[in-house]
Amino acid sequence: MRHPDVVVAGAGVVGAACAEALSRAGLRVLVLDRGAPASGTTAAGEGNVLVSDKEPGPELVLARASRRRWPELLAELREELGPAAAEAEWEPKGGLVVATTEETAAPLQGFAKAHRDVGIRAEPITLDEVASREPWLTRKLTAAIHYPEDAQLQPVLAATTLLAAVRARGGEVRPGVRAVGVRRGENGAVQAIRTDRGEFPCAAVVNACGPWAGAFAADCGAPIAVLPRRGLVLVTAPLPPGTVQHKVYDADYVGAVASGDAELQTSTVVESTRAGTVLIGSSRQRAGFDETIRFDVLRELARKAAALFPVLANVPVMRAYGGFRPYTPDHLPVIGEDPRLPGLWHATGHEGAGIGLAAATGQLLAELFTGRESTVDATPFRVGRPAVAEEVRA
Ligand SMILES: Cc1cc2nc3c(=O)[nH]c(=O)nc-3n(C[C@H](O)[C@H](O)[C@H](O)COP(=O)(O)OP(=O)(O)OC[C@H]3O[C@@H](n4cnc5c(N)ncnc54)[C@H](O)[C@@H]3O)c2cc1C
Repeated sequence: MRHPDVVVAGAGVVGAACAEALSRAGLRVLVLDRGAPASGTTAAGEGNVLVSDKEPGPELVLARASRRRWPELLAELREELGPAAAEAEWEPKGGLVVATTEETAAPLQGFAKAHRDVGIRAEPITLDEVASREPWLTRKLTAAIHYPEDAQLQPVLAATTLLAAVRARGGEVRPGVRAVGVRRGENGAVQAIRTDRGEFPCAAVVNACGPWAGAFAADCGAPIAVLPRRGLVLVTAPLPPGTVQHKVYDADYVGAVASGDAELQTSTVVESTRAGTVLIGSSRQRAGFDETIRFDVLRELARKAAALFPVLANVPVMRAYGGFRPYTPDHLPVIGEDPRLPGLWHATGHEGAGIGLAAATGQLLAELFTGRESTVDATPFRVGRPAVAEEVRA
């Protein structure tokens, strides 16, 4: 493609969702990735599409829009591409958030009440109801909330489905091309993206480089604060169906998500996949791009998961892996045009929720790009806010 309208740098789930929404709006889109599509953080994502872990505020608004958009989008793509090319293992399985101590019961109940106040279904359930929903879950619980709106999909399949739609509409996806900056015209706006394979003329570039978005933004001369936040996950061998039915997590997970602490935190998150494996997460730590798989962290994850689901104490672990969440200091994604550099757009910084938030992020970016009325208020995600670009005055 010689003259795309837009070049998206980064073919993770967020770049793929932006490219899909832009091509749906009729734009010619070229997607570049220095590696293979969905080979970055997207490959590490557990695939949760959650409303339950977000406190009322702008991220929850985006999460609800995305929760509505994902099944609709996947159904549209199945129609457009056929069921074989558009299968992302969408499962509206619901979430179960539990408290295991007296100290965490009241905060969990308060959090659920705050959710109900803004219209989220957050249903307190009795221990008998818990037992009927999750027979293998510990009975040593002090509170439990059922979130029927929580869902799950397979992140790599979701990203490749979105990219298949881009190709089907005449767009192009090029793996193995590293973006190294942009060329600006005399008016200061983007004229081309610079890559290790030469320049591609275009009037707009979307920075969807995930945890590497800060580096690409700096290469463009418009730095933004996006940092890596490490996470490790354990994967069991396939278990009998029904061993774990919902996404189940300990109430302390919400505190770990919201915390900006650089130190290591672990909280228990357990869920099954369609393949039968059970994913056990997750840890959070800001330690740069250190790829070490730490056994002490894995041991802690395993210990806490077995306390929640005692049956897991005796199952084989198949593998462990890690990834880097794209973290911003105020825990909100960055979505919109850079006021310092016309034609440079950012869609990044979704930290531990980029899979869930991708569908609405793509939609919002395309709405802003084409000047249509936006589904959600984009102001909280603007590039020029102090936490992201201190020196920018939008
Ligand atoms: C352990 C773990 C569990 C998680 N679980 C969940 C979950 O259950 N639900 C959820 O919603 N989120 C989850 N997340 C977070 C989620 O995975 C991320 O928010 C999401 O994948 C970010 O997607 P992205 O497209 O922005 O980034 P990425 O997937 O990292 O994509 C960025 C792409 O940009 C490419 N790139 C980088 N630099 C360049 C360059 N200069 N030129 C060209 N290409 C470049 C990379 O190769 C990469 O493919 C989890 C994360 C981790 C680490």
